[in-house]
Amino acid sequence: PAAEEKNVGAPPFEMPEIRFTKLFINGCFVDAGSGRTFETRDPRTGDVIASVAEGDKEDVDLAVKAARDAFDHGEWPRMSGSERGRIMMRFADLVEQHAGELAALESLDAGKHPAVTMAVDIGNAAGSLRYFAGAADKIHGETLKMRGQFQGYTLREPLGVAGLIIPWNFPTTMFGIKVAPALAAGCTVVVKPAEQTPLSALYLADLAKQAGIPDGVINVVPGFGPTAGAAIASHMNVDIVSFTGSTEVGRLIMEASAKSNLKPVSLELGGKSPLIIFDDADLDMAVELAISANFFNKGEACVAASRVYVQDSIYDRFEKKLAERMKSWVVGDPLNDPRVDQGPQVDKAQYERVLSFIDRGKREGATLLTGGKPCGKKGYYIEPTIFTNVKEDMVIAKEEIFGPVMCLMKFKTVEEAIARANGTTYGLGAGVVTRDLDVANRVVRSVRAGLVWVNCYFAVSSDCPFGGRKMSGFGKDEGMHALDKFLAVKSVVTPLRDSPW
Ligand code: ADP
Repeated sequence: PAAEEKNVGAPPFEMPEIRFTKLFINGCFVDAGSGRTFETRDPRTGDVIASVAEGDKEDVDLAVKAARDAFDHGEWPRMSGSERGRIMMRFADLVEQHAGELAALESLDAGKHPAVTMAVDIGNAAGSLRYFAGAADKIHGETLKMRGQFQGYTLREPLGVAGLIIPWNFPTTMFGIKVAPALAAGCTVVVKPAEQTPLSALYLADLAKQAGIPDGVINVVPGFGPTAGAAIASHMNVDIVSFTGSTEVGRLIMEASAKSNLKPVSLELGGKSPLIIFDDADLDMAVELAISANFFNKGEACVAASRVYVQDSIYDRFEKKLAERMKSWVVGDPLNDPRVDQGPQVDKAQYERVLSFIDRGKREGATLLTGGKPCGKKGYYIEPTIFTNVKEDMVIAKEEIFGPVMCLMKFKTVEEAIARANGTTYGLGAGVVTRDLDVANRVVRSVRAGLVWVNCYFAVSSDCPFGGRKMSGFGKDEGMHALDKFLAVKSVVTPLRDSPW
């Protein structure tokens, strides 16, 4: 209802008011200790939207102290699971009630399509809060009939202070899916949003307070990765880090943990996911899937299927249909033009990075089927780019580009498709399009990835574990596996005297 009233998702709509630009520590919005701020920009124009307090190590120390106190002495981990769940449900309701403002804020800060934020981010964040709210009072241990005159049981206890370091491509989703399981477990958290998109996390912190989440339980410290992010990863009083971002930074997080207190880490990293289209596929459906799997959210998705393999007998028809369909694809301002499919890349650095990959592809000898250039008079817009004649050893086929760039390739047999799909250092997502159940099952069982979509792509849900393997990382967001990360198992043993059983 909130969305309909505000007409969000059907641009043009009102610019949001920026109400929160300071660090959120112990329930209050405060300046950074250094007094420094950084600018967050509108990717449609490159103009400054707001100056945001720049958290650094000393601010992280304060946030961790607040979280530590709330954990060691506060009510959150000690209240019943159902009470925590009740408060989280209220938080979820508030997220939905403020969906319009959040979507507008996110579009402004990240260049996202408001309809995507409404449908995906708000749904994921509220959905995750509700899913884990429902799990909060179902955290049980086991009873053990031990050898000898003993019996045992296990307690599942909250780990403590969780550091949650999140990226800029789905800021509201990431906040929701990281914070919800930690809170349900009874942990307290310090969130570091990405420097490109700090606004929604601060807005969500305010909603959490309104929902009744006690002070110190959620802290938000915007700032840069090598300073604020690194301070969380190496903090001696942070008990777990859950991170989503690049493989490169994932390594640094793990290293920081190893060099400090050996806190467990959960890493959701990059990908170069394959989408395999067999010759019995519904061609129209397959074309739409390949497009959304690459150009949804401007290609800024870790599970984007940036390698599309099409069986040789249908390849020419597929390529033609794809090129034809892309003629009606509109790149532009997602806030002001209702026809727009694709907005600007998140910032100048990403825009330039994606363009340099496109140049690399051209230089390596791949052929452009569509796109290949920046577009628009200002802002960070890039044409949806499809390369053909791509060889597996080209950089564009191997490295994560994180932009609207598809590599279209040909294969002959199931075995070849599986081998090439697995021929990557990553293992995040994979897709298969076929009507043949045996072929689908073979691919599903053989592909080394954390998520496999059959005749669909990108479908996610709060109960569906999300995370990769190989250099895409380890540990899951969403699903009960995500709750487990934030719980420690304690084995308790008692003597069993005078019992014949
Ligand atoms: P991307 O390449 O998508 O920007 P990054 O991995 O660089 O992804 O960033 C994801 C998150 O990790 C952001 O919040 C960023 O600030 C943070 N980050 C970057 N560098 C570090 C670091 N050295 N230590 C901890 N966090 C970092």
